[in-house]
Amino acid sequence: MAYDIQPTASHFIDGAYVEDQTGTPIPVICQVSEEQIALVHAATPAIIERALASAKRAQKDWAALTGTERGRILRRAADIIRDRNDDLSVLETNDTGKPLQETLVADATSAADALEYFGGIAGSLTGEHVQLGADFVYTRREPLGVCVGIGAWNYPTQIAAWKAAPALACGNSMVFKPSETTPLCALKVAEILHEAGAPAGIYNVVQGMGDVGHALVTDPRVAKVSLTGSVPTGRKVYAAAADGIRHVTMELGGKSPLVIFDDANLEDAVSGAILANFYSSGQVCSNGTRVFVQSGIKDAFLQRLTERLNDVKMGDPLDETVNFGPLVSQNQMEIVQGFIEKGLSEGARLVAGGERVGTKGYFLQPTVFADVTDDMTIARDEIFGPVLSVLDFDDEEDVLTRANATDFGLAAGVFTQDLTRAHRMAAAFEAGTCYINTYNLAPVEAPFGGSKLSGVGRENSKGAVDHYSEMKSVYVAMTPVEAPF
Ligand code: NDP
Repeated sequence: MAYDIQPTASHFIDGAYVEDQTGTPIPVICQVSEEQIALVHAATPAIIERALASAKRAQKDWAALTGTERGRILRRAADIIRDRNDDLSVLETNDTGKPLQETLVADATSAADALEYFGGIAGSLTGEHVQLGADFVYTRREPLGVCVGIGAWNYPTQIAAWKAAPALACGNSMVFKPSETTPLCALKVAEILHEAGAPAGIYNVVQGMGDVGHALVTDPRVAKVSLTGSVPTGRKVYAAAADGIRHVTMELGGKSPLVIFDDANLEDAVSGAILANFYSSGQVCSNGTRVFVQSGIKDAFLQRLTERLNDVKMGDPLDETVNFGPLVSQNQMEIVQGFIEKGLSEGARLVAGGERVGTKGYFLQPTVFADVTDDMTIARDEIFGPVLSVLDFDDEEDVLTRANATDFGLAAGVFTQDLTRAHRMAAAFEAGTCYINTYNLAPVEAPFGGSKLSGVGRENSKGAVDHYSEMKSVYVAMTPVEAPF
């Protein structure tokens, strides 16, 4: 039987698809034809209640399994995802507009990596023993309880799995709300987890806008909130979570620097800048959009970059030869167009792109500005689209100061052949995720997350376990109890 790629209802709760058409309709729009390709409904209060109640009910029994048993289910889900990579990649492309060429290697596969990795370490999560003379303390690593995950629209499969995998490995349950712009993929993650053996209620998905997210975040049953989104939303969600002193992970926006020194390998540096700005049509949180280029290599860099842009193939993202897709929505396209206009009006030099392509579909040319200065809007604000800004520099100390002169702190990168300079820069960058001679890789084994306004906590790596569990200490007396009277 052919695998049915399209989710069959709006929500996935307690091990099954659930529909409630009284919720606000959320159309899913094709980024190429601008036509509706699916329709889901926002969660009503009754749906939210069902999702939270079932997550609460299911969590204790899930936590009572051994880590090895939980891990086996996660790893089975990873295998199913890999088996269905082609179908899931088509769904990701339909949800986001990202080229199939990308989604085949970056989305379902990344979700499978996370489930495999956290499934693998679930059985080795432990507390510790602390000897105190004859007495001792032991610590128990305990799950937090019901967690809420809220996702952005750029990586809907990956974000759903990056939150589910560590949460479930630690014995939590999760209610996940995808972005209203890309509601489909997380449903498949839930369906596959259930098929792999996850008990009903362990991972529920409900649709909706900010109000649904807010209702989840403020529910007294919820112990932790993990958000991937913009800084303004992060502020709201963090504040709402604070009321209940809930644990938080905040994966927020960025305006990351990419510094290219004269001694860099030119071809690698250009490739790095392309990965840092044009992958997923520039809709990547960690993008290195402020490209500082040292004066000796600037002309060669710009020339080679513009030559390489000739190899951009824009078109229907389902065509596997296409390597540059549309933006996710009309709204996002208009936001990015607004930034391009700002760049022009504030005096940046347009080197490539800058235009919408065609009149149907949300296609924008990959755009390069040179002679960008630190005070320009395009150098300060997160654009979240295919706009690369080249800023000039001569001196290492000066470029570090400028690179760090932002409230964001998600990522940073440096291209140089000088080993000591590379590590000096990485140490001095005020950013959570740094790259030397590459950019934008996010393997599950490495911590990922931001400093300053870009976030709190880390996803991926063993470190994520600390954000989905807490230590209980148990003091054990082996000697008579001494009291003052
Ligand atoms: P938004 O901040 O607009 O939304 C993120 C999610 O939060 C959506 O599901 C949204 O719902 C929901 N939401 C909005 N308001 C509230 C609220 N008051 N309470 C609870 N939930 C709420 O981000 P985008 O979806 O536009 O994604 C782009 C942003 O995400 C960029 O800033 C980007 O940098 C960041 N991002 C960060 C990543 C990281 O790992 N650091 C990775 C990917 C993206 P809805 O939109 O459906 O109404």
